[in-house]
Amino acid sequence: MTLRITGGRVYDPANGVAGDVRDVCLSDGKVVDDAPAYATRIDARGMVVMPGGVDIHAHIAGPKVNAARRLAPEEHRGDVHERSAIMRSGTGGTVPSTFVTGYRYALLGYTTVVEAATPPLSARHVLAELRDTPIIDAAFLLLMGNNLALFDLIRRDPARVRDAVAWWLQATGGYGVKLVNAGGVERWKNGNGDVTSLDDDVAGVTPRQVLETIGGAVHDLGLPHPVHVHCNNLGVAGNWRTTLDTLKTLDGRRAHLAHIQFHAYGGRPGRRPRSKAPAIAEYLGDHPEVSADVGQVMFGPATTMTADAPVSALLRDVTGGKWVNHDTEVETGCGIVPFTYREKNYVHALQWGIGLELFLLSRDPWRLVLSTDHPNGGSFLSYPRLIRLLMDRDFRNDQLRRAHKKAIQSTVLLDDLDREYTLEEIAIVTRAGPARLLGLRDKGHLGPGADADVTIYDEREDREEMFATPRYVIKGGRVVVRDGELVDAPAGDLLRVAAGHDPAIEDVLREQFEERYSVEFDSYPVREPWLLEPARQVPAEPSA
Ligand SMILES: [Zn+2]
Repeated sequence: MTLRITGGRVYDPANGVAGDVRDVCLSDGKVVDDAPAYATRIDARGMVVMPGGVDIHAHIAGPKVNAARRLAPEEHRGDVHERSAIMRSGTGGTVPSTFVTGYRYALLGYTTVVEAATPPLSARHVLAELRDTPIIDAAFLLLMGNNLALFDLIRRDPARVRDAVAWWLQATGGYGVKLVNAGGVERWKNGNGDVTSLDDDVAGVTPRQVLETIGGAVHDLGLPHPVHVHCNNLGVAGNWRTTLDTLKTLDGRRAHLAHIQFHAYGGRPGRRPRSKAPAIAEYLGDHPEVSADVGQVMFGPATTMTADAPVSALLRDVTGGKWVNHDTEVETGCGIVPFTYREKNYVHALQWGIGLELFLLSRDPWRLVLSTDHPNGGSFLSYPRLIRLLMDRDFRNDQLRRAHKKAIQSTVLLDDLDREYTLEEIAIVTRAGPARLLGLRDKGHLGPGADADVTIYDEREDREEMFATPRYVIKGGRVVVRDGELVDAPAGDLLRVAAGHDPAIEDVLREQFEERYSVEFDSYPVREPWLLEPARQVPAEPSA
């Protein structure tokens, strides 16, 4: 399949292209320099051409997502997705079924999504659901911040943690390493409350040791994506100090902070939070080794789902509604609470405002990228509205006037923060930046050799409308959306990392498994070929 997209305004920031009118040629699933005269043409005059969207942090597959689906049948009844010639039936809401997740991401122009929190023991479930999610290429991050076997290794033989991390990634098909409230989940599971500082003791280690050792292992292994950290004290007033302490602990090594909006609060624990977005934005600006996704809150329905089980327990106290809590043996925990963010609620409006502050104060869009931590801060379907908030000052000011007054007054949003994101900056925070932060060299750009993932939008003044309804979406060289309609739904690829380990680590881990796990060591690695293949392996590059 050879394709020439002609006459569109191209935004390809990784290659320094910002709105130039030029052709983009695709052949055999890749971007190429030129296409022969017989190539199929797409006339993109009056349209904007960008690489396919890349979501660096979302929750779309696995047991927690499935539990969230079961928890909210009313969402399914309210959003039935009918079968068509191309599409299988399913349900939507804040936690769509697998098929609908793939269709709706594609209809939004996204072609790559990272599932951000997989318990290693649940890798088979995550893989099965990702295989069931059409069109998008997907990778998943492995939860390692509350794993008792790793804690034991950190205590007794920290130098071998690197091999253990590599073994776990290989055994599961994972792409990268996620730390969620390091130590805090394990402590809470034992009825001892959450950790409050990085130096609290949890099963003989501290959150700081976990961050240092596993962060160091990820660095030494040269994984394409740095350690992906959900900091301790999520949502707690005053947690901005924990966030900065976490970064200091990582000591100049590369790190990606998840949904940093939830970790940018001033004030004192137990009191009303305040915004510390300016301080966090300044720190990010000064530290090129650190990146983050925002985790923007959007007003309306959401489903909070997190490995940070103590946070879920608190949220459940707030809502008084239904919830799920689930421990995964010695590896992690999880909580799910349906939630609605309201513009007249002080805390919700503050969270919304802090996210916008972080975006508008960001000095480097390559390192502060767009997410709602789907579906925690809101559905991925709200990205177009978020883009409009960033690009359209009048629209934003109008929304600011509706939100809780005191909350907005306590931010800097009313202090001449009149920045409007350009299309180039939007292309960075929604595709080029996330792809670069993930180390996905074939994604997020339109240079020769890149994957032929392309989104074409009608240029419209209403940016929400523009980004909600791409005219064409091309995935791996195949047109999957034409004139805003889904016309094809091929399977996406699994993206997994290839990192080597010393086989001797397996004897060490085998002992740990005999002592701690319900699963035999030999039965634990995913071996089912249909789950693991086809996949694209992205090599780790250890420094010499
Ligand atoms: Zn998340």
